[in-house]
Amino acid sequence: MSKLLASQVIFANNIGMLVRYIFESGFFCTFGEAYRSPEQESIAAKMSLVVGDSQHCKRLAIDLNLYSLDGVDLTDPQAYKEFGDYWKSLNPANKFGGDFEEIDNNHFEMCPIYKANFKSMVDYISKNFGIEKIEEEK
Ligand SMILES: [Zn+2]
Repeated sequence: MSKLLASQVIFANNIGMLVRYIFESGFFCTFGEAYRSPEQESIAAKMSLVVGDSQHCKRLAIDLNLYSLDGVDLTDPQAYKEFGDYWKSLNPANKFGGDFEEIDNNHFEMCPIYKANFKSMVDYISKNFGIEKIEEEK
């Protein structure tokens, strides 16, 4: 298992936990953009919609749309803050778009494993998924 795949596995598992937490907290959410192809990223960067080096391209980011139980689309940053805090508590590599300089409240991402503490990631995967063989980045 490569470090990128290991990161993607932990990210997907953490997103599952976040979605469950949102529903258990009395809200709904829907999936927005998750994977973004290099072609889509290039077009969006030319239109100045994105910075051009997104974790979406690495399958390490997702945009979640938050709703109240009666179906109101929640756009208030405060509504997302609790879930951003929970997201960051799941893993030291998790980042919340609400903390970005250009605020992006519905964006949840993970730094690739090679930017985080590699040993703690291996321990996490080993403990939670029973996988011990993770290749070092060449
Ligand atoms: Zn995003």
